[in-house]
Amino acid sequence: MRFDILSVFPEMIRPALTESILGRACSKGILEINLHNIRDYTTDKHRRTDDTPYGGGWGMVMTCQPIIDCHKAVVGEDKDLLTVYMSPSGKVLNQKLAMKLAKQKRIVIICGHYEGIDQRIIDSIVDEEISIGDYVLTGGEMPAAILVDCVSRLIPGVLPDEECHEDESIESGLLEYPQYTKPSEYAGMKVPEVLLSGNHANINKWRRQKSIEKTFKVRRDLIRKKRFSEEEKKYIESLKEIQKTKIE
Ligand code: SAM
Repeated sequence: MRFDILSVFPEMIRPALTESILGRACSKGILEINLHNIRDYTTDKHRRTDDTPYGGGWGMVMTCQPIIDCHKAVVGEDKDLLTVYMSPSGKVLNQKLAMKLAKQKRIVIICGHYEGIDQRIIDSIVDEEISIGDYVLTGGEMPAAILVDCVSRLIPGVLPDEECHEDESIESGLLEYPQYTKPSEYAGMKVPEVLLSGNHANINKWRRQKSIEKTFKVRRDLIRKKRFSEEEKKYIESLKEIQKTKIE
């Protein structure tokens, strides 16, 4: 899969996408991530890429010419791609949207800065506006890195074989159970006995219960959406009873 990221600060993104798992996937040729500096495309003699907003108001708006010319140069004749603008007023990114995006062959991402980008850029070249959450950042660089990371790990071959993502928080519809590693005791804190037992049926049952318990505590909305076995429903009822007695 190929990503092209258009930004006035591409170096803000590079370390996040060239180290560790994504860096290895790029070296193996599973991923291709290209960073493009929008400023290299400006025709302004002072190399400006932004200007004051029409109608007045605070801050600067990124102008059409450098972004549209940069996009044209990067995309060329390729039609099989999706152009995304990272924006706090876009569709909020979640695992379902990431899975949909992972089916694309190529994604071109535009990072805004300052007060954002001229609407005519969105109207003419953007297919999808995507937000990483209901808060506002200074630029689209970190949101772009987050989008590339969460989509990339869904591409076959990016995660090592043993790292199956199906159990993970959100993806499974529940939050993940607690994880422990060696040593079995640290500063008097012990790893739950069941995880040392070697009994996989019990381990799976414990993990599932812990997963339900965590989700029940912090993301009740996910519990409402998920289907459970009769035994699990009883477990959830028992969690409700415990909570009631705590409140009373
Ligand atoms: N004036 C814009 C508004 O109210 O929607 C906010 C602009 S923001 C300060 C500057 C840039 O940061 C945006 O163009 C966008 O690319 C990026 N950005 C900020 N928050 C974001 C978020 N939650 N998700 C995605 N991108 C975001």
